[in-house]
Amino acid sequence: MKGRVVVLKEYLKPFEIEEYDVPDLEPGAILLRITQAGICGSDLHRWRGDQMNVPLPPTGFCAGHEGTGVIEKLGPGVTADWLGQPINEGDRLMYAAIKPCMRCYQCINGNQNWCSGPQSPRAAGEWPYFHGTYADYYYIGPNQPVFAVPPELPDHVLSFVNCAMGTVTEGLSRAGCKEGDYVVIQGAGGLGLNATAMAKDMGAHKVIVLDRLENRLQLAQEFGADHTINIEEFDTPESRKERIRELTDGRLADIVMELVGQAELLIEGIDLLTYGGTFVEIGDIVRGRKVALDPSPITRGKKVIGSSMYRPSLLPVMMEMLVKNLGRRPYEKIISNVFPLADVNEAFEQAEWANRETPVTRAVLVP
Ligand SMILES: [Zn+2]
Ligand SMILES: [Zn+2]
Repeated sequence: MKGRVVVLKEYLKPFEIEEYDVPDLEPGAILLRITQAGICGSDLHRWRGDQMNVPLPPTGFCAGHEGTGVIEKLGPGVTADWLGQPINEGDRLMYAAIKPCMRCYQCINGNQNWCSGPQSPRAAGEWPYFHGTYADYYYIGPNQPVFAVPPELPDHVLSFVNCAMGTVTEGLSRAGCKEGDYVVIQGAGGLGLNATAMAKDMGAHKVIVLDRLENRLQLAQEFGADHTINIEEFDTPESRKERIRELTDGRLADIVMELVGQAELLIEGIDLLTYGGTFVEIGDIVRGRKVALDPSPITRGKKVIGSSMYRPSLLPVMMEMLVKNLGRRPYEKIISNVFPLADVNEAFEQAEWANRETPVTRAVLVP
């Protein structure tokens, strides 16, 4: 049996589609048949080569990290997910889109998303061939946590759980989001919409979302935003701060989430915090950008933390939250565009947001 794999051979060049034999499974491994794979900001960064400190493998890089699918084959010894729920071929499965080694300091400390062990280069043509989710199959190694999907959940809410939703939930949880908090979200894309709903679910008193696109701000309201600020209308950091001061009865924000990927938003975000508040850096994953920071506001207890991906234990929690929220939040609207896997290049062109605006909130590829 063979399957297709989308390979990035050169930055900013069209992807190539290659075919590989489906490998035999090692004990503890699972072969997933991909049903949907999302295109997220980090995939676009990777395609452009923004993370140039990570050279592409000589044979090319197997693209795609988030998505969902059904079990094609269980490796020797696999009968249950990581919480002991029985799983069978044909079942839908949620997997952690990180590959923790489970044998490093961070992993044994519970921070598998910060694993410092060796990571696969996801090189095309290297066993087990199916390293990415832009493919017919995805190889889940024995260390990669997996969870059965609750039967109530429709497929269309699953593709972003193990990336956008996981990432913002991790950030909010590390920032200690709680009852009564004022939360400011910079950016109403796939991350921002998920963050809005999750912050409200964690008890935030008010969530205020900033973006420049009115359709996205409208969606943010449907996801639970109490207020939105169009940055075309409030077009200076000072005017935005004044507006947020008004909306928070003079207090400013307990938590600010940076989900855009603009270094200057760190400075603006720290300024939007109340004393003791927490700025969460998530979007700025491209290396080499610099901002000048006045450290004095930090002496008033302001904290700057970074967050990346998520601890796998959050996955079952998020799926339970989604079950509870079915019909309450329009999760079906996060996926704005669906492309066949063969049209991966068209999908990337349309989803591209560098130096332009795109109506695409999130595109998915379907094999
Ligand atoms: Zn590790
Ligand atoms: Zn992602």
